Amino acid sequence: MKKIEHIGIAVKNIETANKLFASLFGKPHYKIEEVISEGVKTSFFEVGPNKIELLEGTSAQSPISKFIAKKGEGIHHIAFLVDDIYTEIERLKKEGFTVLSETPKKGADNKKVAFLHPKSTNGVLIELCQEIA
Ligand code: ZN
Repeated sequence: MKKIEHIGIAVKNIETANKLFASLFGKPHYKIEEVISEGVKTSFFEVGPNKIELLEGTSAQSPISKFIAKKGEGIHHIAFLVDDIYTEIERLKKEGFTVLSETPKKGADNKKVAFLHPKSTNGVLIELCQEIA
């Protein structure tokens, strides 16, 4: 893994959260994107070399809505940038981690993404992401 690509925060209302985080960081988000297949609306902030992704579920079935119903708003996942997501998935499976989607999906921000089950990572949802060339 190369670096933390972003930290994902689950929010109930992305418009309200955008305002709050814009005032926290002193600048607005640079992108809003809906990932229809995942049932989420996302927005991204750049803070120095790091990114923060806000996620709002677009339906009650969305993983984000379910997360909020169970745990409330807050940090949802940590995303790590990888060079080759397929190789990394194979490596992590061999190491005993549970990969939620063995075939990477198209995520927000022009990335291929896959998640590791938090049960295999001390309760932290880990996202692997690779830039789509
Ligand atoms: Zn993410």
